[in-house]
Formats: sequence, C-alpha cells, structure tokens
Amino acid sequence: MAHYTPMMQQYLKIKADQKDAFLFFRLGDFYELFFEDALKASQELEITLTSRDGGTSGRIPMCGVPYHSAENYIKQLIEKGYKVAICEQVEDPKTTKGVVKREVVQLITPGTVMEGSMLDEKENNYLASLSSFNDGSFVVSYNDLTTGENSVALIPGGFDAAMSELYSRPVKEVVVSSEFNAEHEQMLKDRLDYTVSHQDETEISREFHSLVKDVHQDKLRTGFGRLLNYIQHTQKRSLDHLQPVKVIELKQYMTLDLYSKRNLELLETLRKKGKSGSLLSVIDKTITSMGARMLKKWMERPLLSADHIATRHDQVEGFLEQFFERETLREELTNVYDLERLAGRVAFGNVNARDMIQLKNSLSRIPEILSTLSKFEHPSIEKLYERMDPLQDLKHLLEESIADDPPVSVKEGGLIRDGFNDQLDHYRDASKNGKKWIAELEQKERSETGIKSLKVGYNRVFGYYIEVTKANLRHLPEGRYERKQTLTNAERFITPELKEKETMILEAQEKSVELEYDLFLQVREKVKTYVKRLQELAEQISQIDVLQGFAQVAEAYQYVRPEYREQRVVDIKQGRHPVVEKVMQEGTFVPNDIYMNEETDVLLITGPNMSGKSTYMRQLALTAILGQMGSFVPCQSASLPVFDQIFTRIGAADDLVSGHSTFMVEMLEANHALTHATENSLILLDEIGRGTSTYDGMALAQAIVEYIHNEVKAKTLFSTHYHELTSLDEQLNRLKNVHVRAEEYEGNVVFLHQIKDGPADESYGIHVAKLAHLPEALIHRATALLDQLENVHVNGEVSASNEQEEQLTLFVEEPKPEKQKKSNDSNIEKYLGSLNLMEMTPMDAM
Ligand code: ADP
Repeated sequence: MAHYTPMMQQYLKIKADQKDAFLFFRLGDFYELFFEDALKASQELEITLTSRDGGTSGRIPMCGVPYHSAENYIKQLIEKGYKVAICEQVEDPKTTKGVVKREVVQLITPGTVMEGSMLDEKENNYLASLSSFNDGSFVVSYNDLTTGENSVALIPGGFDAAMSELYSRPVKEVVVSSEFNAEHEQMLKDRLDYTVSHQDETEISREFHSLVKDVHQDKLRTGFGRLLNYIQHTQKRSLDHLQPVKVIELKQYMTLDLYSKRNLELLETLRKKGKSGSLLSVIDKTITSMGARMLKKWMERPLLSADHIATRHDQVEGFLEQFFERETLREELTNVYDLERLAGRVAFGNVNARDMIQLKNSLSRIPEILSTLSKFEHPSIEKLYERMDPLQDLKHLLEESIADDPPVSVKEGGLIRDGFNDQLDHYRDASKNGKKWIAELEQKERSETGIKSLKVGYNRVFGYYIEVTKANLRHLPEGRYERKQTLTNAERFITPELKEKETMILEAQEKSVELEYDLFLQVREKVKTYVKRLQELAEQISQIDVLQGFAQVAEAYQYVRPEYREQRVVDIKQGRHPVVEKVMQEGTFVPNDIYMNEETDVLLITGPNMSGKSTYMRQLALTAILGQMGSFVPCQSASLPVFDQIFTRIGAADDLVSGHSTFMVEMLEANHALTHATENSLILLDEIGRGTSTYDGMALAQAIVEYIHNEVKAKTLFSTHYHELTSLDEQLNRLKNVHVRAEEYEGNVVFLHQIKDGPADESYGIHVAKLAHLPEALIHRATALLDQLENVHVNGEVSASNEQEEQLTLFVEEPKPEKQKKSNDSNIEKYLGSLNLMEMTPMDAM
C-alpha cells in the first residue's frame, strides 16, 4: 500500500469491499474508475482509457465519466448485468485538509435499480433469492423495490422446479448464500442469464418483523431473510414502502415449467428476445403500465380454481357487454399515472413536486372512474370497485399544498401554493411589495429628475441600480444618488432606500425558498403515510385495467368464454392459434376442432411437414392458458377441464448454452413431463425422437406414447412423422389418430391445415419434395422405391397385425435396431423354410 498516494490507498481500501462491482469513485465533477475496473469499463462503455500517477508504483489505468451524465453509463453497465458502487465525497473538500473522506452511498445492481430511466415501465423488476435446504427443497423469495412487493414460495421439487419458478417472473438478479451449490450457481448465470450475488446473513431485524407476520415456516423466513439483508446491505435508505410478504401457494396456480414458458412463447419469442410475436403482445390491451405488469403476472400464474376463473370471466363479460362505458373507462385510465411505482418512490424519498402533481391528477380521475364503473350493469363489476378507496383526502392535501406548474428541482422554490402557509405568504408578499416599489421607482425618479431614459435594473454582482446615460448626467441633481459603477456610456447609482428594499426582497426570497423546501419535505412525509392505501388502489386499478383489456381483446378478435367441466373432456369448436392467426392475412387461418372425450387421452397427429401440426398443438395449450388466466379464448366454443400443469416438447430450442445436444434437451424435457405430469395435466410432444437414428427414435417415441397412455394418463397431443406409430390405436384404446389433411391439386400437394380423424396417408413426403421442385428424375425414383417398399409389405405375406405384434414386443422389451432388419429377413427365411430341397434340381436350389 505504502507506494500508493494517500488517495489511492483510500480507493483500494474501499474497493476491497466492493470486489464484484464497478467502483464509481467521486473525484470533483467526475466519477473515476481505476485498475481492472478502468480497463473493463473503458471497453464496455467505449470511453477513453487514460492513466494517473498513483505514487511510486507508477501510473495507474483510469477512466471516468462526468457525474451529471453518469446515470446513462451506470444504466449501460446494469443492463449488461454488472453492479455499480457509488462512492461519494462525504466531506466538503474546501474545509478539509488532506484526502476528503469518501463512502459508498449506494450499490446499484440489476435487481435494485430505482431510477426511472433504467426501468421498463411495463415490467416488474424483481430481485430474487434462492435458498437450498438439506431435504432437497428450495425457497424462492421475490422483491420488487420499485413497488415494494414481496413474496416467497417453498419449492419441494428440487433445483429444476426452483429454476422454473424463477423463470416465471422477470427476475434480474438472484441472491444466494456463499456456500450455494457451485454448479447450480453456474446454471443460474448461464441458463437464465441472472446476475448472482451473495448474502449469508438471514436473520430478519426487528424493524422488519411486521413484514413477515404472516410467514410462519422457518424455511420461508430464512429465505426471505436472505433477500431482506441483501436489500438492507445495498440500499442505504428508507425501506418504508416494503409490503408484507405474500406466501405464494404454488398449488393455487397452474405450473408451467421452464421449457413450456419458452416453447409456447408466452412473454417473448424464442428467436429474438422481445415481446413482439409473443402471446402477450397479442392480448395486451391494457392502458396503464401497472395493468401491463399485472397482466404478465396473470400469464405467469394461470389459476386452478374454477370459481376464481369464473369470477374473472364474469367480469370480462361485464366489461364486454357495454361498449361505450368501456370506451369511457379506457379513456379515463389513460390519465392514471403509475401509482404503484410512485408509491415506491415516495417511500424512497425521491419524488419531486412534478411527481406529486401527477399523483394529484391521477387521483382526481378516480371519482370519474368510479362513476363509470357504476354504470356497468353486470353484478360482477361491482366487486371490482365496492371497496375502492379513492384517496380524495390525499388529493386535497396535494391540491392545497403543491403549486400547479412546479419546477423539477425541489430546492429552487415555486413548489408550494399560495395560501398553504402564512409565513410563506408573508415572505412572498414582502418580496412582491419590494418588487412593486422598485417597479414604481423608475417612474417616480424619471418625473422628479426629468430624465426620460433613466432606468432601474438588476444584476447579480451589484444588485438593483439606477442607470443614467452620460449625456444626461448634467441633469442629475448633485448628491441625489450614490455612484456605484461606471460604464462607457452610462453611470449606475444606488440609494440607501433602494438597497434596503433590495435586502428585503432577497432575504424574503431566500427564506421563502428554504421554507418551501421544508414544507415540501413535510408534505412528502405526509404523503408517505398514504403509501399502503396507494398500493391498494394501484392494485385495484391494475386489475380493472387487465380485465377491460380482456374484454377489448375478446371483442376485437372474437374470443369466447370457455366453459369448465368436472369431466376430463376437451371440446373446442373451430379453435384458432391466437398469434398465428394475427400474423396471417385476415381470414386465411383455418380453424380446427379439438375433441378428446373422457375415453381419449392421446391424440396421435400425423401429416406432412409444414402442414400445421405444431400450430394445432400449441393452439390447445395457449387456449388453456388464456382461459385459466381469466381471458376469453380464440374459438367458436370451448369446453375444457382445468389443467394443473402444461408440459411441452416443441420446436428446436437448442440449448446451446449448457452444451446439451438437441436430442438431450428433447429427452430432458420429455423426462420432465413424464415424471411430473398427472392425469389432470396437458402434455404436448412434437416429433419426439427426431434427434436420433430412425429406429432408435421410433422406439423411444413409441415407448413414450405407451408410458403416457398406461401410466401418466395425461391429456396428450403427440405429433410424429413415424407413420408406423399410427397402428398403435389397435393396442392403446385411449389413443386416437388424427391427421392434417393435404390434398393433391394438379399433381401438387396443397396444405389445407385441416385436422381430420384417422392416420395420414404415407406418401406426402414425396409430394412435398415435388413442391420443393426437386429434380423430376429424383421424384420418379422415389416414387418407384416407395412402390417397392409397399410391395415388400404386401408380398412379404406379413399381415398388418402380425407386424404390429412384432414391433410391439420389439420396442418394449428389446429395443435393438438389428432386430428390425431381421423382421424383413424373416420373410425370406420363411420362404426358404417352406421349400422342399429334396424335390429340387441343383439349378432350382441355386
Ligand atoms: P408442422 O408442425 O406440421 O411442421 P406448423 O404447425 O409449423 O407445421 O405450420 C407450418 C405453417 O403452416 C405455419 O407457420 C403457418 O403459417 C401455417 N399454418 C399452420 N396451421 C395453420 C392453419 N390452421 N391455418 C392456416 N395456416 C396454418
């Protein structure tokens, strides 16, 4: 250390506690970064790397950003998943000798940003913690610092289930113990792209006991304690707005595992991160950003209780019935500001007077909204507002206290309304009177001296003055004014009275600015006491917003209310894929029925590539999710069971990051479904087995279908290009074949995207090849080969059922590919066996 300058010693000492963050070290008007931080930041931020004398050890790499534009740079680093420690000078440099004292005043991390420009207003910003326990269970806790929301869930099902749970929310950062399983920690970073932070302290300090009063399990308290300690450690400021912890009962919600959430493209598409093309993008007709955030939450946690689902559907129906009132409501919602985040910022102490005005304006809309809501006749709507607290007392407070058009700064006055405080009014009067006296002075002096060009002016250095041009000086009575300043063409004067008024004005102004700031802080403290009520109001408004949005979608896209039955029957008439139908030209999407009665569990879907198999499968899953989150669904009518979980293996979402091959991912996902699904679940398996050799793949595909059919009994859609599997319906009585119809038209295949009963015809592959304009000769050859193969089947004297039996035993007991060859050989063997060599000539035998 000794070979560094004293300031660098101070830097190194502070940096030692901030190893995993960029240390923004305040030096005058700049934040400077040194050493490794400087090298890395200069690359990440594309700023110039310089160096600085560090003492006898030579020059030290350095880069810096001006403090007034630091937010933008911090934002870039946070978006890349880094942390930033802000180190300020905590002493006045002018009055200190030696090195100014510095301290880290805030640690900004991806999960704890509060600054508006770093947040997506339509998305929550969750910080999560993950704690593991000896019995294999995990506890996941969440906090959104911007809204104060806290929740916690116990995950009995192991690390995979914990990852799925985390993935259900927009989590930016995960806090774990420093002894957390290293492999798991790596997976959090690589697979889910989280910033991982450490916190070992889990004891909840006394001041926060009220937050966990409804949390009784030790594990949950430990888990949440870790999160809370991390927040306290990084945020060195008020956390008054934190809301009591909600215990998430996972059993109340449909489980959507990690794979399904990705594969079904609920919140974002697989190809490019981003909302467009996702289910969310189609159905988000919310007006407020609070509503948009709530919609996401609902999508991530579809309901399991038929009653709760029905309540939401009733409400959508209520909004749907009355178009004009709904339009009015939508209009009114546009003026409601983000009350939830505002409440968070009030508690944090960083709202300005303009925020207060927005709050006031938002609140002044609430009575209108209430009155509009009361015009909806459906009884279900009343539930949404009967307990709504319009917070008009808060509105009045803001109305009385805050000026109409306040500046951004809270330290320059202009914040508080006249009449709110006597003392302030008095200062303002004094300053006003003074100014009036001065304004009148000009007239008075002009007429008394007869100098028409005499002026009264003001500048910062000399204050108020009387100015007389040099040419007029001779008209000025001797000794009338005191000379103050000489310009080229004029002289400036003052009088004792003028100075007296000036002092009065300035004093009054200074005092009133100070007083205004104090008063503003008082108002802010008062507003703080409304935080809980504001949060409740925000929640109600969000809910109304989401539900009116559902009505809007239902109307715009002709969605209908699904029916829920106790029986395990899926009966969708003219169902559509909510996203595909939107990207296609209007009216070109072909609707399809899906029917599975109580006796049918598995639909085996065959048909050529690109005919619409996976669209059909996804359409059922999306319909189920939409229905259970409370939305209407895209079809003519739907009767559905409540699905407890949805599992999918769809598409080629190669898991490149973790180094798994497509086939491995396929098997992992299939395994996940097979082990977790119940008979109330929905499983979608698309082209399983494609990633390995034909026999291997077909064997696995068949075994999986059989396993689901016999053991799991979940409703399952299974698409396959192994045509051989279609004869499974002879053995598996709960399996039904359907196919996507394609027709030949003038020698070409036309996809009709229509689902029909029964297996598909086998030869579409060749037609598709034709469509793709493969060489004529090649198509001929393929057709001939197909004929040959079909002839082997027929002339080989193997009856369909015989072959079936062979295949079944083959795959179930001994899935060796060699045996398949033998089954063809055995035809020849049989033929040979039937010959009587004794009656043959040697030539015949040859
Ligand atoms: P598969 O899974 O059979 O290979 P997809 O489901 O991926 O086929 O569908 C291929 C394309 O066909 C889709 O991208 C879509 O453009 C179109 N398609 C699928 N289903 C329909 C439908 N019902 N109506 C109209 N077009 C459809």
